[in-house]
Amino acid sequence: MGATPREDVRRALVVCAHPDDVDFGAAGTVASWTAAGIEVTYCLATRGEASGDGSRPRAEVGAIRQGEQLHAADTLGVGEVVFLDHPDGAVEPSLALRRDLARVIRRVRPDRVLTWSPEINWDHVPTAHPDHRAVGTATFAAVYPDARNPNAFPELLADEHLAPWTVAELWLADGPSLLRNHAVDTTEFFDLRMAALRCHVSQVGDKPDLVDRLRGHFADTAARYGLPRGRLAEEFQVVATG
Ligand SMILES: [Zn+2]
Repeated sequence: MGATPREDVRRALVVCAHPDDVDFGAAGTVASWTAAGIEVTYCLATRGEASGDGSRPRAEVGAIRQGEQLHAADTLGVGEVVFLDHPDGAVEPSLALRRDLARVIRRVRPDRVLTWSPEINWDHVPTAHPDHRAVGTATFAAVYPDARNPNAFPELLADEHLAPWTVAELWLADGPSLLRNHAVDTTEFFDLRMAALRCHVSQVGDKPDLVDRLRGHFADTAARYGLPRGRLAEEFQVVATG
């Protein structure tokens, strides 16, 4: 629906700021990809250690949230989860983050990268967390030009033997409504995506209305793309990077 994504995708990389970002925004889509045989890798800039009310040490919170994300990834058939250990709440689109992401892209060699939009969605500000946008900015730079340019971070090639890699397609989540151009019908994967989200016990354990709220949100998205009543969809801005 909308933009036409590539069909020759064998590997996909999802880059997000915090544990639970992908499971709120894109878990149904990830489930549809792994069901179609696409190898999916997650890369998280942080372990989410800055969440909560401050009553627990940050290292403990980070360890709990890391475990929750690993469990959620396993639920969806995601093969690998990489944590880059940038500071939660203080992620910057720095050269250091760009290099970390270019390294992961060159190693995983994904055909498609899904990340968060660098732009603010003024219709729903809570998803436009500064960490999400910093990750979006750094991931865009890692996709274009860093990972494909042998002169960007030359030490990756010289010292780590990581050859340049061109990511063909970028998917952006939670960007401005007007820029979204593609919806994935995730109806069959709704229960699975909710099971993945429920793995984040420290974040969603006290939200009994979560299923109804998200079902309504994804039903509205499906309706906007002309899908029949009862269908559910997740929406993205799909960009060809070539
Ligand atoms: Zn987040």
